[in-house]
Formats: sequence, C-alpha cells, structure tokens
Amino acid sequence: MSGQDAAAPGRPKQGTTPSGGSAVRKATSVGATFLPGSSSNGQQTTLGVMGGGQLGRMFVQAAQAMGYFTVVLDPDVISPAGLVSHYHIQTDYLDEQGLTQLMQRCAAITTEFENVPAPALMTLGAARPVAPSAEAVGIAQDRVKEKAHFVRCGVPCAPYAVIGSAAQLAAVSDDLLPSIVKTARMGYDGKGQVRVTNRTELAAAWAELKGVTCVLEKMLPLQAECSVIVARGWDGSMVNLPVQLNLHREGILAVTSAYEGNVPAALAERAVAATKAIADELQYVGVLCVEFFVLQEGTAEATALGGLIVNEMAPRPHNSGHYSLDACDLSQFDLQVRTLAGLPLVQPRQHSPAIMLNLLGDLWVEGASPAWDQVLALPGAHLHLYGKLTASKGRKMGHLTLTGASVAEVRATALAAAAILGIEAF
Ligand code: ADP
Ligand code: MG
Repeated sequence: MSGQDAAAPGRPKQGTTPSGGSAVRKATSVGATFLPGSSSNGQQTTLGVMGGGQLGRMFVQAAQAMGYFTVVLDPDVISPAGLVSHYHIQTDYLDEQGLTQLMQRCAAITTEFENVPAPALMTLGAARPVAPSAEAVGIAQDRVKEKAHFVRCGVPCAPYAVIGSAAQLAAVSDDLLPSIVKTARMGYDGKGQVRVTNRTELAAAWAELKGVTCVLEKMLPLQAECSVIVARGWDGSMVNLPVQLNLHREGILAVTSAYEGNVPAALAERAVAATKAIADELQYVGVLCVEFFVLQEGTAEATALGGLIVNEMAPRPHNSGHYSLDACDLSQFDLQVRTLAGLPLVQPRQHSPAIMLNLLGDLWVEGASPAWDQVLALPGAHLHLYGKLTASKGRKMGHLTLTGASVAEVRATALAAAAILGIEAF
C-alpha cells in the first residue's frame, strides 16, 4: 500500500485552527505544520501528550528543546512527564473538562502509552491532529486485532489461537502446545502472561486470567529478539532507526545493543521492510516500534516460519529506542515531535555504537541509589533518570546508555557499568 492516501486515520479536519500557536497549513492535503516558537499573537506553539510516564517525559524534553510549549494530561499528581512539562492537566483520561483543556491549549496531541482509552483519542482527534490515531492505537492495544493486522500485512507471526470462550478453549489444537497465554488487552512487561505445557495447565491459566479474551501463542525457540522503530509522516514519508538487538529478563527489556552487525544484515533488512509494511498498511502517523523474534536456526519452526517472526507493536517510542537519544543525530522523541508537528522527516544517522541498560528498581538496595559516581566515571556513559520517587522490583527508574568509538569499546564499558550496578553480565 502506498500510504499516500490523504484520508489517513487521525488526519486533522480541514479548517481546524488550533489556539496553541502558529499554524502554517500547507497548500497540499498532507495535514498541518506547527512551527515551534511564538506566533504573531504572542502565543507559544504547544504540543500535548496523553500520559505522564517516562516516554512522555522524554517527548516533552525533545519538544521543549525545539522551542515548543508542552501539556501533559495524567491523573497522577506527580508523574515523570508532569514534573517537567510547562502545563500538567491532572484529570482522568476520559474526563471531558481535561480533554477540552488539552484541546484548547494544544496545536496537536500525541500519546505515550498504548492503553490510553481509544474514545479519548477519538474526542481529541475530532478537533485536533492526533498522532498516532485512535484507530491505530486501538489495534495495537488488542493482541487479537494486532495479530490480524500482521496477517493482513503478510508478515509471519507465531501460530496462535484466540480464546474467548470455553468452546474456543476446547478447540485449541495440540500443535500449539507448549504455549504462552497472553491477555488480549492491558499486558506489558510480561504481565498478563502464563506459560503452559499441556491442556490442564492451559485451562487453569485461562481461569487464572479470569476468563478474559486471550491469545494463545505457540512457544517458539528464540535465538534472539530485535526491534525496529519507524517514524511516518502525514504525507506517508517514512524514516527508521537502525535495528536494535534486545535482551529480555523475566519478560522485561534488560539490554539493547545497537551497532552494525548486532543482527545479520539480511535479517535486519527484512525486519525494516516488515515494519514499514505494517506502518503503511495502518496509514500510521507517528513513531511505531515493532518487536521481532529471531528463531533458532535449523529448528522445525524456523524452517516453517522463515526465521523472522513479528511479536508485537507499540504505537509510540519504545524502550529499545532510548539509545537514540545519545547515539543518533535524531532521537525517537525528536521523530515523534516532527511527525506530530508536521515537520520534515530526515533519516536519522547513528554516530556511535551503543548499548542501553535498563535501570530497574531492583538496583536500589533498601532505597539507596546505585553508585552513579562510579558509573559516570566511565567514558561514554549517559545517565537518564525518570524522576520516580520510589523504587520497586521491576519498576523502570531510568536507563543508562553507553556509547563508544567501537563495538569492542562500548561492550567493555557496558559490562563494566553492569558490574558496578549489579546487573548480570550479557
Ligand atoms: P509484553 O507485552 O509483556 O512485552 P511479549 O508478547 O513481548 O509481551 O512477551 C514478553 C517476552 O516473552 C518476549 O519478549 C519474549 O522474550 C517472550 N515470549 C513472548 N512470546 C513468546 C513466544 N511465542 N515464544 C517464545 N517466547 C515468547
Ligand atoms: Mg514485548
């Protein structure tokens, strides 16, 4: 699909003029451009984000660096993004007054998490450019719709079945076992998932998940996991970050390696092409991350499925793209700002090999901060903390990116940082 259709979902309606600042509508039907800075009436162009987590925080920081004012809508009094934004609307995501305020203040609005209620995005999208669209987010937040979308794009995913009733449970083929049962909605960081090896465990798992609609996926022999981040504009133009190699521990991203040769070139090319097809087919606008499994060579599954399998997508910047803040000339958050504001999309260039380590709450032993002074003594160490006040197990408190002149150098520094922090070597 060409992706050039002017009627892309989430497209701003012609004639909507935001009060948030200077709107320069292009003559073509590719949506509006909102330049940063102040407009003739002295108002600052303002961009909004639904959600106040760390992704929202880094979006806000990128937007502010370019000269935009920002608004965060998040129900929490204290949130990572709310703490650094010019404005914080502290209401529920579906609160009418909150949404009205957001629309009044902002030229355009994005989201930082996929579980923002789709009706809220629809309300916003009727009056302002919203990227990604309610429709795209609605697909990404439901594993059943998401898998159907991958199938529609001709991109292979793990063999699966939908379990929404006792009849569907009984009809599951033995070929899918052993498998992972995943709730269709609201799962993240391995939550809402149960691994099963036989039918008895499967029935127990579905009961444990309260009988909600689930996707049952065949357990695949993984060699590695990787992800691709693309940014697609209102006009269908698309750029991508280099392919990331991801190591998960206990269902949570632990380490991302981003450098030439992290995955074989042919696989990387296929992953980028698949991600672009997925984004085009959705007429997606914004930053999209697609996660892939690389299957163990020589296994029956690898032969049957072709070695590279799409896992899931995130309609937003992604944890695996955080290295781009320090290792690329445009970060995934810069790209999010550019797509939202209708600014030119330029292909990012990675200037340094990089490794990112997630800093989970587990590293705060009895509430004490890790030895940042030792970590920051390492060359090429970039510390990002999200302003979260309390650490708990598995909570993403920040990340550390190591950059270096060569892959060998960056690996050595990353391993040294891991040793200081008590992160298991990789
Ligand atoms: P989440 O939304 O929590 O990230 P994922 O579907 O990505 O959920 O699953 C989390 C992790 O579990 C994956 O990164 C991968 O390591 C493992 N996993 C998920 N599905 C499969 C599968 N079908 N076969 C093997 N491992 C899997
Ligand atoms: Mg995942």
